[in-house]
Amino acid sequence: MKILDIRVLGDPVLRKETTAIENISDDIKELVSNMFDTMYAAQGIGLAAPQVGRSERVAVVDVEGARHVLINPEVIETEGTSRGEEGCLSIPEIYGDVTRPARVVVRAQNEDGETVEIEGTELLGRCLQHEIDHLDGKLFIDYLSMLKRRSVMSKWEKMKDDYPGFVRKVALELKGTHHSEGEL
Ligand SMILES: [Zn+2]
Repeated sequence: MKILDIRVLGDPVLRKETTAIENISDDIKELVSNMFDTMYAAQGIGLAAPQVGRSERVAVVDVEGARHVLINPEVIETEGTSRGEEGCLSIPEIYGDVTRPARVVVRAQNEDGETVEIEGTELLGRCLQHEIDHLDGKLFIDYLSMLKRRSVMSKWEKMKDDYPGFVRKVALELKGTHHSEGEL
């Protein structure tokens, strides 16, 4: 079990495009396992590689027992729209409403290299889209209105010094009273 440092808003890795994984090596399998450990330790429901400083196209999610490894995921179908609150392990304690498709079908490979299709609505649908956005260098705050985004950024300005070098130490965080439920 290895808990990785989570990179927070301001780290350029969060804005970097990821590269497709061609070979699911032992290194990738170890990364996936460490990402699950990190996500659970931080009480998140999803985590994408850039959030732990990596630029491979991989994310993990666990929403209400629906546990998925997403290697090279892509959204292949969307339907409807839904508005709901999101947070992000890389932008602690900041929340905002985001409008997204209400239902998505995602095609990805699992850690055995098998192609899987995952249908998600409600929280799972939202989480899948949020994580795939991370793999494209996109963050949920990008969807907020100019006004809301400005207020979020001024709040973040006051908090960001808690994360020197854009690093969030998860094990230390757990001793505090942070509310990370629902952070993706
Ligand atoms: Zn996130």
